[in-house]
Amino acid sequence: MTDYNILIVDDNSEDIELYRRILECESESDFNIQSAETGTNALSMCKDRQPDCILLDYMLPDMTGLEFMQKINIKFGHNKFPVIMLTSQGDENIAVAAMKSGCQDYIQKVNISTKSLKPAIIKALENINISRKQNEYRRELERLVEYDELTGLFNRRAILQMYELEYNRALRFNHELTVIMLDIDYFKSINDRHGHFMGDVVLRSFANAISRTTRSIDISGRFGGEEFLIILPGTNMHGGLIIAEKIRSRIERQTHFSDSGSMIKVTCSLGVASIDGGRKSKESVLELSDRALYTAKKNGRNQVASN
Ligand code: GH3
Ligand code: MG
Ligand code: MG
Ligand code: MG
Repeated sequence: MTDYNILIVDDNSEDIELYRRILECESESDFNIQSAETGTNALSMCKDRQPDCILLDYMLPDMTGLEFMQKINIKFGHNKFPVIMLTSQGDENIAVAAMKSGCQDYIQKVNISTKSLKPAIIKALENINISRKQNEYRRELERLVEYDELTGLFNRRAILQMYELEYNRALRFNHELTVIMLDIDYFKSINDRHGHFMGDVVLRSFANAISRTTRSIDISGRFGGEEFLIILPGTNMHGGLIIAEKIRSRIERQTHFSDSGSMIKVTCSLGVASIDGGRKSKESVLELSDRALYTAKKNGRNQVASN
């Protein structure tokens, strides 16, 4: 059972009692109900104990509901708490202004019953749960962010943790997920022939080509020395093969010049694997992409393969 703090802001004690009774017959959640009779009191209560939902009367002794919204937005930021405006005024303009000021919902007091109030609160609570989950996810991502100095992409540890997060998310929401493992062809010979510095230049150009070919929600990392892992959320095998081929051909078209002015052409091999509707385990998807990469190498390099 989840505990929710509900703050009723109303100067009419009979109304407060009515809302209390309605909320107390809600069985799936526990509501801790607090009340304030003025906007000023309510604002200071929000600071002491953050409410999960506010039921806000329009006419308060010290301010209107809309003025309350302005104050709460300034004090705590927009959409910090879900607010449902309750009023006896049947004014369409107030309803529009209430929603514009950031209220989640608007109910006329004459229409308030178990049927209207509870669903409105539950919807508001669901909204806040979603935004809390999104915040948690964002915080988790920020914790993981670690970059590879040379390429500016995620490093191995970060990309693996991103992969784990994306895999779990894809499973939970039944989304597709495809990964591409990319390895530079004959990279050792670039280093041997043109020096380590030139090798680094080529590595950076790969990172650049990958970033330019993928979408903003795709995640790329340097998986090893000259190996990259690209995660494509919401993309199936078909889409993954298209992106892998785009990267391959982009790289093929690039030319580098060594210090002595000689032309350097580099290619890469790519292995693609998908979670296949969640039928494949987290580890086996990576293994399959690695195996596909090996197939691409074995079949002559500069190509895309899948398993
Ligand atoms: P293949 O086509 O089979 O992948 O051949 P390859 O030469 O690319 O593969 P191999 O694994 O033999 O060599 C990888 C090379 O990558 C060896 C290593 O010196 C080089 N390398 C790894 N990390 C870096 C780096 O940060 N900078 C540079 N310049 N080279 C690196
Ligand atoms: Mg009132
Ligand atoms: Mg390698
Ligand atoms: Mg290689």
